[in-house]
Amino acid sequence: MLKLRFFTLGWVAKRCPDVIKRIVSEGHELASHGLAHQRATTMPRSQFIQDVTESKNILEDISGKPIIGYRAPSFSVNDSNTWVYEELKTLGFLYSSSTYPIEHDLYGVPEWPRFKYERPEGLVEIPIPTIRKNGTNIGIGGGGYFRLYPYFLSRKRITQYLESEPHPYNFYFHPWEIDPAQPRIDGTSLRSKFRHYINLSRMEGKIVKLLKDYKWQTMCHTYGITTKEE
Ligand SMILES: [Zn+2]
Repeated sequence: MLKLRFFTLGWVAKRCPDVIKRIVSEGHELASHGLAHQRATTMPRSQFIQDVTESKNILEDISGKPIIGYRAPSFSVNDSNTWVYEELKTLGFLYSSSTYPIEHDLYGVPEWPRFKYERPEGLVEIPIPTIRKNGTNIGIGGGGYFRLYPYFLSRKRITQYLESEPHPYNFYFHPWEIDPAQPRIDGTSLRSKFRHYINLSRMEGKIVKLLKDYKWQTMCHTYGITTKEE
């Protein structure tokens, strides 16, 4: 059976504990995506600690499992807040997957590493995958880009990555991306609306194809991350 990794919000876990229990009982991996999707770059350090601690506690209480992985909302770790890694280490996290080495107006540090590496703070960082084209990193990790581009193009790029890089590939999407019936929010910019609502109805079909076209495993399994107990 297909096993996945769920980076989950504490906010969601609190409201839907049964979903968390199901994730774990079906053998998927559970990790933290913070408390309420607030970007790490917008929080003072003390608030970040509170946010991640609370989310970790909620997830551990409901699942009964240690939470060792973290993904910053909107890949919000950059040169301005590398202290995030010190705090994650202190809180007992073994890895983070919080960076996207691309040029983007909301996130991304193009010059940061493209592949899994050991942070000086003592935990592993697993960046979102990219391919190199004309000296630039192109994001191929999922989410909005995957929703926007036709499936054949994403597939071509993922295959190119797998054939040219001696590193595993990882893919992400948010649950709302497969929910075309979600409420439409007024008062946001046209750009935000475009980014958020484009191709929602096509996303699920694309993901089904993606799951069939490649072999998948959980993040810890793929990247060889194990807890002390294992
Ligand atoms: Zn998110």
